[in-house]
Amino acid sequence: MAMSKGNGLPVPDDIIYKILLSSPLYSSLKATLLTCKQFYRVFQSHPNSVVRAVAYNITGPALPQALECIRHPFVPVHPRSLLRVSLSDPGDLETLISAPITPPETHQIVANSKIVKRLEDMFSFRYIDRTISTSQLSSSESRAFCIAVYRLMLYGAIADLGAWIHQESDPELRGDLITLSDNREDTEKGNKMFYCFSTPELLRLHSVTVFLKEILCFCARIYGYADEIYDLATVAGPARILNGFGNQDRDGLQLLDDISYFFRLEDPETLASLSSSPLLRILDLRNVEPPSGFAHWLSVSSRASERNSQCDRCQETLDFGAHSRSTFTEISNGECYRLHITYQHKYGPQHIHQYLKGNLRFSSFEISAFIDENKEFGATFLLQMWNDLWRLDLVQQQPKDQRFPHTLPDWTEDSYLCDVCFTHFLSENLWLWWRHIKSSSKTLKQDCCYGFNCELQVKSALHAEDFNHLCEQTQVDNL
Ligand SMILES: [Zn+2]
Ligand SMILES: [Zn+2]
Repeated sequence: MAMSKGNGLPVPDDIIYKILLSSPLYSSLKATLLTCKQFYRVFQSHPNSVVRAVAYNITGPALPQALECIRHPFVPVHPRSLLRVSLSDPGDLETLISAPITPPETHQIVANSKIVKRLEDMFSFRYIDRTISTSQLSSSESRAFCIAVYRLMLYGAIADLGAWIHQESDPELRGDLITLSDNREDTEKGNKMFYCFSTPELLRLHSVTVFLKEILCFCARIYGYADEIYDLATVAGPARILNGFGNQDRDGLQLLDDISYFFRLEDPETLASLSSSPLLRILDLRNVEPPSGFAHWLSVSSRASERNSQCDRCQETLDFGAHSRSTFTEISNGECYRLHITYQHKYGPQHIHQYLKGNLRFSSFEISAFIDENKEFGATFLLQMWNDLWRLDLVQQQPKDQRFPHTLPDWTEDSYLCDVCFTHFLSENLWLWWRHIKSSSKTLKQDCCYGFNCELQVKSALHAEDFNHLCEQTQVDNL
């Protein structure tokens, strides 16, 4: 490439061009361009190649699919959309993909790539390596996974669940702009898209769909929806499912409500066209049996390990909530996207007192002392508690709680625990840690003979304050 010399900088234009091409993000490209006008001049000579190179740096080799999922002619055009590419032949996807990237498209590329990356990280954590929160897929596995997610994103955009529901539920729009059958036609277009994929690609798409279903089930775990609604994970699309996971009380609930809308319609034809059955139908036509159970994840990575997704203690599934020192370290560093909601609601210093032993958790005096004393730990709370319990050898010093099955192995410092086992661990051990904190600050009073079982500590703040209840019961009859 011919580059002009004498730009006033000690580096030639072609080096500046290479620097611009290697910008990892659009924000860093912008910052580089603002440093001096020579950089901006070089950018203006080759804006399209620089913008495309940065898009590649963001999405990796799945860039064609990333562009396809925002430019595909089947994706509905919304009135506010500025990013349509005008094509003389909408069937020519290569032309469509190679067209220059517009500024509004850069925003969508960045937003979509965050969704894809988070899903890849979550998949890797769950099935490949739970000790690390960022993806450990190989570059070829990562590429294949990202392509599958972008394709499901495209499918979700074509089906356009949100617009469909909006139009169906608004009497002014119903039967006017788009009818149910028109929408079904759009979805059928999306279904036909699957026919051109190779069988390994379809199997991977199906496995990623099953992974999206798992996330949807996780969002719905406390609401008790019928199992069939999870078949609509494909049409809900990766973006809505991940948003639902990120804000389960608001976006998650809204998504589940939208999906269950189709079941209230009781229109089997619509349900069949929306569910994940098109993928299965095509595989069936090709005489291919899709994997079941854990074998799904082997079509994404040969290193997928069932052990990685199981609780070390009870062998039940970890879901997305493995509790371990590495997870607590992530939370401490503010990096744990997977669990931030669970931790805010259940295990932060403001809420975790519900796992104090016996009647301690009902004692207003103990609860407010616990919150006041521990709020300064903030996000580091769990890591601090976990480290103290093991460093001071507190876990093994007490009789086990008879309520929990003792056929399970003992607690160990490096365990990865499911949510059920972790709450058992807290019920057995949190009070010991709290006693250690109070004893360190010399605020422990004389022991009450009814210990943590004392009922009077709940009724009388004065009694709760005058005696220590962080101890075993030594007198049999209770108050
Ligand atoms: Zn467990
Ligand atoms: Zn007492």
